[in-house]
Amino acid sequence: MTGRAKDKDTDTKEIREYHASSVGLFFTVDSVLYRKQSSYQKIEVFVNESFGKVLLLDGLIQTTEKDEFFYHEMLVHPACTTHSSPQNILVIGGGDGGALKEILRYPVESVCHVEIDAQVIEVGKEYFPWLSPCLKDKRVDLVIADGLEFLREIERTFDIIFVDSSEPIGPSVALHRRDFYETAKKRLNEEAVVVAQIGSPLYHLEFIRECSATFKEIFKTVRFYVGPAPSYPGGSWCYAFLSDNVDPLVLQRDPPPGLKCYNRDIHQAAFALPPFMKDTI
Ligand code: SAM
Repeated sequence: MTGRAKDKDTDTKEIREYHASSVGLFFTVDSVLYRKQSSYQKIEVFVNESFGKVLLLDGLIQTTEKDEFFYHEMLVHPACTTHSSPQNILVIGGGDGGALKEILRYPVESVCHVEIDAQVIEVGKEYFPWLSPCLKDKRVDLVIADGLEFLREIERTFDIIFVDSSEPIGPSVALHRRDFYETAKKRLNEEAVVVAQIGSPLYHLEFIRECSATFKEIFKTVRFYVGPAPSYPGGSWCYAFLSDNVDPLVLQRDPPPGLKCYNRDIHQAAFALPPFMKDTI
């Protein structure tokens, strides 16, 4: 779905992520803080003068200190402001902790965080300073497991499930399949939402179209919305809002204070899709 890493190691002076054969993004590398192969993926953290610490998984940019708030606020807040009482939340993936940080701004009862790679969690605790306090929060239960296996085995249900996966390669492939969403639906409370990051409207439109067709067979309400994501392919990112009974356009509460991207106006604007997306999905 997304870019390809051109330079496999960040001990070159820059990394390049190709979004198509002739276009992409480069970051200069000031210093490499971490580089190891886990059981699932190659994990790297480097410092860039403008964007601060940058997390790569298998050579692809996942999170940067400077612009993570765009992605994580837009992933989390639309569902948390439209569900009438979000109490029990599940996050699948999201090992860097950015989604968790946003969810914990609400007075939720519990957040179950299921991440497949314990090494990503350790790297997050060391290099992305918001993660450690989140994991110490009594409401958070960290489970190291595959998200699909977890959903198949548990019996409890959730108000919101956030799918904060990486690109559909490696361990994330399972999180982009139909049976994942069918299984997720069985783990929802009566009033519930699933939110998933889907990809770049510019580079991954066909993938978004395929997801849309699948989602419409599973959920009554399938809406896509878009938010800024400067360090992802194309600079804007698409999310799916899936529900049987929550209206994505009716806010039930104000967002919490202190956000940098999301507010009521941005919420409404995010669901207004341009013709090239609307006509396709
Ligand atoms: N917040 C990130 C961003 O900025 O785009 C999203 C990427 S996040 C780092 C993706 C996480 O999903 C990774 O830590 C990866 O280990 C995890 N993951 C991949 N496949 C998974 C699976 N099958 N079950 C649970 N977690 C998975």
